[in-house]
Amino acid sequence: MTKLRIVANAQAEASNSDLRSQVHFCAQTGQIWLHEHRMLLIHAQAQALLRKELIDTLGMARAQGLLTRMGYESGVRDAELARTMAQDLSDIEAFMTGPQLHTLEGIVKVTQIRLELDRSAGNFYGEFLWENSWEGQWHRHFFGVHTEPVCWTQIGYACGYTSAFMGRAILYKEVECAGMGNDHCRIIGKPVDEWEDASEYAHFFNRESIAEQLIALQTQVVELRTSIAEKKGLPADMVGNSPAFRAAYELLRHATHNEITVLLLGETGVGKEVFARTLHEHGARAKASFVAINCAAIPTDLVEAELFGVEKGAYTGAQASRAGRFERANGGTLFLDEIGDLPLAAQAKLLRVLQEGEIERVGGQTVRKVSVRLVAATNVDLRLKVKEGKFRSDLYYRLNAYQIKIPPLRERKEDISPLAKGFLEKYCALHGKRIAGFTDKAKRALLTYAWPGNIRELQNMIERGVILAPVGTRIEVHHMFSSIDERASDEFGLDAHGDLRQPVHDVGSELCEAVLGGTMTLDQVEAMLLERAVDKSHGNLSSAARMLGVTRPQLAYRLRRLQEEPLSRDSAAPAKPIQP
Ligand SMILES: [Zn+2]
Repeated sequence: MTKLRIVANAQAEASNSDLRSQVHFCAQTGQIWLHEHRMLLIHAQAQALLRKELIDTLGMARAQGLLTRMGYESGVRDAELARTMAQDLSDIEAFMTGPQLHTLEGIVKVTQIRLELDRSAGNFYGEFLWENSWEGQWHRHFFGVHTEPVCWTQIGYACGYTSAFMGRAILYKEVECAGMGNDHCRIIGKPVDEWEDASEYAHFFNRESIAEQLIALQTQVVELRTSIAEKKGLPADMVGNSPAFRAAYELLRHATHNEITVLLLGETGVGKEVFARTLHEHGARAKASFVAINCAAIPTDLVEAELFGVEKGAYTGAQASRAGRFERANGGTLFLDEIGDLPLAAQAKLLRVLQEGEIERVGGQTVRKVSVRLVAATNVDLRLKVKEGKFRSDLYYRLNAYQIKIPPLRERKEDISPLAKGFLEKYCALHGKRIAGFTDKAKRALLTYAWPGNIRELQNMIERGVILAPVGTRIEVHHMFSSIDERASDEFGLDAHGDLRQPVHDVGSELCEAVLGGTMTLDQVEAMLLERAVDKSHGNLSSAARMLGVTRPQLAYRLRRLQEEPLSRDSAAPAKPIQP
């Protein structure tokens, strides 16, 4: 015969006045007693502020865990009380001591809806209504309506109380909550193994040492800072194992041991300045200055003064004499970026420095000796500039004695992942943020994107990702790429929703199957291709021909043929004779 019983709420009310008589205020000692447990009478608002601060400083999930465990402890204490006080009562009556204590303590008014329990068999089902939930009301007050239940301390209490009372783990969940905008909270409790998703709640009951986590994070920051400092020899941008990068790096390494003028070639953002700096820092001049100047960024009429210095009164605005970049780099290295933009007059003076090691300030007479190692860089074709008469050929040959071509990022795809990892570490340390890495989709986007801005673009996007991704999560595509527009998604192989599109070879194999299976003819495939290319180029045949990789006359011929013999889309169309 089962012991399961359902009793009316009123039955348990009897012991309510008994409980109240257990509260003792002891003015002499400054203590409040509930039976033999010391209690505190605390301002609800102060407690609510503490709860808010926990959430603000630790985040919702950690605060939830902490408060759940705190409630659990109270529940366990009250279960002890229930056991000692209710020795003569039935199981159900004894159990109701807990809900009554919860009410008496001012936390929440508990009304029993359904309660079935059998202590010896370990059966339990409890459903209760919570009115005037302290926690739900204050949570709403501070944080507004929440999407999930918020009475964490109270749920912890119910779990702790019932588990201790039953001698087995009982898990409660709020199925309605005042914090979610419901009129009341309603809770259901069952043994843990009767909840399918119990594992999702387990972590709230496990103590976590936040201090330990903080220490681990601090250690990580120190390690990262050190590793960044160590990499100063070889910065995060100088990572790579691709043959193209290794070749460039080998050339650079050989140049560090001599004084030869180096010309760095490569697209914008490939890291020309990093190469120049590395050359300087690994060479004999490392202790002297490294001075960089972008020739394209200085107005033509000021570039000579900037490079070679100026004497007071040399021109309007030259109010004081000052040294140029060459003098400032004396003993060290001068990096001239975008040297193709240097005006011809300045080119002549530059040649003189390279040949004689001498400069003259603008408006000055004195010849000054300088010892500067020159590293120049350009992303334009200097030979072409020479042909056009815009660049001195003697200077070109002088600079071109030792050139290093730095490959664009799209030609060193295998370096993208290690570079991305390096930048991630760098920016996490810089922004004091912990990021778990990249999502698979983000990794794929990094690998498939064309990187027209090269390493600089990669670096900027990863910094953006580090800033935008929530702490502890992985960087997603949209954290790095501001919007998945049509162009970018084409490059990523992503559709408009940012999801991975079917790979091209799948589309290709579908087409093959269609032709081989007889649903389409080769001519139909060709016709589709031609029509699509003409559509895409808005009727411009030359550009359509370029897309298709044929000449314009070839395209015109094929189109004419199509018009003369309109293709039947019907698979049963008779095979056409082969055109000569
Ligand atoms: Zn609630």
